[in-house]
Amino acid sequence: MQVTDEELLAYVNETLSEQRLVAVESAIRSSPELQRRLQMLLRSVDTGEQSVGAVWRERRLSCPSREELRLWVFGALPAEEAAYVSFHLQTVQCPYCRASAEDIRSAATDRAATERRRRRVFASSAGHLRRSGRSGSRGG
Ligand SMILES: [Zn+2]
Repeated sequence: MQVTDEELLAYVNETLSEQRLVAVESAIRSSPELQRRLQMLLRSVDTGEQSVGAVWRERRLSCPSREELRLWVFGALPAEEAAYVSFHLQTVQCPYCRASAEDIRSAATDRAATERRRRRVFASSAGHLRRSGRSGSRGG
């Protein structure tokens, strides 16, 4: 019977189906080779070598901060950093940072639209309230 590493890990994590669990368990019991593989797997899991999550976390350390992304979106990042962020987003296509940048961009667009709307409403109601020809100040 063929037992993959994934199945061995699933066996350890008890995520196999009942039927498969019984089959894998008896295969492990009857096969010294499988027992060795299981031991090696457990060791590597313990030291984090095999952990996909750990690899991701490590990679994500190279992600720009949210603040850097914000500055990048608004074109306010120094050229060297901007080049790194562009590389990270466009070449590496980091899904986390792409989502963040998209988020920042759309939030900014929303804010700008809201601000425009607010100004328009304010301008028209101000026009109704005081019909003097005085131009309103643009304070925030
Ligand atoms: Zn990233």
